[in-house]
Amino acid sequence: MQYELFPSERFSFFSLSSGSCGNSYYLGNSRYGILIDAGIGPRVIKKRLAHYGIDFSSIMAILVTHDHYDHIKSVGYLGEKLHIPVYATREVHKAIINHPLVRNSLNGSTIYIEKGTPFQIKDFQITAFNVPHDSVDNSGYFIRFGNHRFTLATDVGTITDEVAYYICKANHLVIESNYDEEMLNNGRYPYPLKQRITSGSGHLSNRQTAEFLANNYSSDLRNIWLCHLSGDNNNPELAYQTVETHLNRKGIKVGEQVSLQVLQRNILSSKTDF
Ligand SMILES: [Zn+2]
Ligand SMILES: [Zn+2]
Repeated sequence: MQYELFPSERFSFFSLSSGSCGNSYYLGNSRYGILIDAGIGPRVIKKRLAHYGIDFSSIMAILVTHDHYDHIKSVGYLGEKLHIPVYATREVHKAIINHPLVRNSLNGSTIYIEKGTPFQIKDFQITAFNVPHDSVDNSGYFIRFGNHRFTLATDVGTITDEVAYYICKANHLVIESNYDEEMLNNGRYPYPLKQRITSGSGHLSNRQTAEFLANNYSSDLRNIWLCHLSGDNNNPELAYQTVETHLNRKGIKVGEQVSLQVLQRNILSSKTDF
C-alpha cells in the first residue's frame, strides 16, 4: 500500500481525559492525527485539541476500544456530524448503535476492523488485538509509524499472552493502572462491584501493571503512560509510586531509562513529542 512516510518526522501523544469520567487519546504528527476513543463531550474534545493547536479537520480516524460509555460518548457525533471515520470491530459497532445514550448513532462513518489484521491510516499501520473486559468486545491497539511502535491497552481484565506480546513490542506504551488493591478492598464499593473489578474481566491494579512492567522491561521502551485510574480507589501519586518502586527494584531508573507519566482523570495531559 502506498502511503506517505517521513522517517524523521516528530509525533505527539497526549490524553484529553482518562478514566471512567471519559477517555480520549490523541496520536499524531504535524499534519494529522487519530483519536483513540471519544468518551467525553465533543465541545470538550474540540477545546482540548485546540489547546495544542489541533483542529477536528486534521483528525483522520477514531479508533474505538470498546462499547462502554466512557469510551464512546461522542463517537456518533464525530462520525455522523463531522464525518470522521469510526474504526471498531463489528461487535463494538453493533453495541454503539444499540447504546441508549449515544446520540447521532453511526450510519455512514463506520469502518469494521478485525483483530490481528493490520490496516493503514496514512502513516499509521494499526493492528487491533484482543483485551479481556466485561464489554461486548474490547480491542487494544498496536500502531507502527516511522520508527516507532506504540501500544495502548485499557480496561484490561487480564494480561493474556496476546496482550503481553503487544505490550512488549512497544517503544511507547499506554497501559491501565486502575486501582490500588488495598484502597479497593477497604473502600465503600459493594462486594459484587469489587468482584467485577478484580474478576479477570474488569480492570488492572497498580500492582499487576507494576509487576508486569518490571518483569518484562526492555530497553526499547521509552515512554509509559498509566491510564484509566479509578477516582475512588486510586490516586496519581500512588499509581506512579507503585510502578516506579517495582521498576526500581529491578534496577530500572525511571526518568533515565524510561519516562513514566500518569494520565489524570478529566484533565488534558501534557503533550509528549517523540
Ligand atoms: Zn473504561
Ligand atoms: Zn470498560
